[in-house]
Amino acid sequence: MSAQPCDLPARPEMLRAVLDRDGSCDGLFYFAVTTTGIFCRPSCPSRRPRPEHMEFYPTPGEALFAGFRPCARCRPLDPQTGAPDWARGLIERVEADPTRRVTDGDLRRDGIDPTAARRYFKREFGMTFQAYTRARRLGSAFAAIKAGGSLDDASLDHDWESPSGFREAFRKAVGAPPGAARSAECIRLAWIDTPLGPMAAGATEKALCLLEFTDRRMLEAQLDDLRRRFGLPLLPAESPLLADLRGQLAEYFASRRRQFDVPLTCPGTEFQMRVWAALQRIPYGETWSYAELARAVGRPTAVRAVGNANGLNRIAILIPCHRVIQADGGLGGYGGGLWRKLRLLETEGAA
Ligand SMILES: [Zn+2]
Repeated sequence: MSAQPCDLPARPEMLRAVLDRDGSCDGLFYFAVTTTGIFCRPSCPSRRPRPEHMEFYPTPGEALFAGFRPCARCRPLDPQTGAPDWARGLIERVEADPTRRVTDGDLRRDGIDPTAARRYFKREFGMTFQAYTRARRLGSAFAAIKAGGSLDDASLDHDWESPSGFREAFRKAVGAPPGAARSAECIRLAWIDTPLGPMAAGATEKALCLLEFTDRRMLEAQLDDLRRRFGLPLLPAESPLLADLRGQLAEYFASRRRQFDVPLTCPGTEFQMRVWAALQRIPYGETWSYAELARAVGRPTAVRAVGNANGLNRIAILIPCHRVIQADGGLGGYGGGLWRKLRLLETEGAA
């Protein structure tokens, strides 16, 4: 089997999309051709192989690791087209007015299949499109109430069916009535497009607590862990800190930034926190072996435990766990996929 079926549309649906060169399925899956060893986006203009020579993968990373090369025509790794146009347009539409509801009917009128939207958001953002816009409206209402707005205004301004429906949705998401928002704190979640794919970022009022590539199967579990660990609701919302981070990441990927200037919070066991602090001492453009990292935390024999703590890092790139490689120069592991680790090290001139 090429991948877990739950990550992919049904096979007949994928075959249909590939034969139709259906661009609305770009980003939902990739097809690989066993006879040529190449993988493509569904919309690729290339000739189609026989169905029995096709394999399907949910992400480019998985196709690469199954041994396929990216197609030179549709360039499935090309950073400019990381998110398909329709999904990018949809995200822009929500961000242009986060207070508005977007129904399945609205999607269809825009030529977007609601099932495709649901599946794409579920995979990239860990929630369906409808759950995303609902949560985004709640996050925006949360901010409005916190800034001193009235509950009824918040419910009306955010396109809720009724004030009682709003109160109920709010209570369910936040675990407290809307009035509590005035004093309450939440973790704001935002998605940041990068040349290596979208990342989920989470921040409290004061510090960044999550930065992770979103096609990780672990993302949903990680969001749950975050909710429990901080005892705070997660709501899609923007904040000045997240805007700073977005700008700094863009500079980093353009090789114009070597250090980040965003406050971090990463609670863990005492040992984990020592490992994460040590990671931040590895200079840009350099790599350490797991043994060097173990020595740096004063536990030279605990190479395996150090590796585990490295893998549990919640703040990718800023806590540079990608700078730890094997003593023989092998890449070792990376939760975001080895191809990303390699590209990060290339960006830093360390590969
Ligand atoms: Zn192609």
